[in-house]
Amino acid sequence: MAYTYDDQNIFAKILRGEIPNNTHTETEHTLAFHDIQPQAPHHVLVIPKGAYVTADHFAAEASDTEVLDFWRTFAVICSDLRIAPDVGGGYRMIANSGHDGVQEVQHFHLHVLAGRPMGRMLQPG
Ligand code: AMP
Repeated sequence: MAYTYDDQNIFAKILRGEIPNNTHTETEHTLAFHDIQPQAPHHVLVIPKGAYVTADHFAAEASDTEVLDFWRTFAVICSDLRIAPDVGGGYRMIANSGHDGVQEVQHFHLHVLAGRPMGRMLQPG
């Protein structure tokens, strides 16, 4: 089944400039901004500017340029925040997808969380 993108989701509104955001990094194809309800000292959301619903949708259908730009932006965030394990304390990245993934915003986003120990990976459902 093909994904249907709802352009009224809150990140689409951020990308159109209809809602403000606290930008960390912006490139031609990617926006990274601070989560409005941070769950850790560092909590950045990385999103493609293209209309992708989930991580698998992005991985399957985004162009090579978009995919590369997304991950290079992620690397910039790790470098700027000094969270990579070789220089800092490490991080967790999460991409909630779909119903079971408990995805609230229907535009693919990568959570980058750092600045404290994250605990076990999953809580019991
Ligand atoms: P998810 O459950 O993975 O879809 O998470 C959506 C995330 O978006 C949550 O961590 C929210 O705190 C965050 N969020 C929702 N609205 C905004 C906003 N306007 N600016 C920044 N982050 C937001």
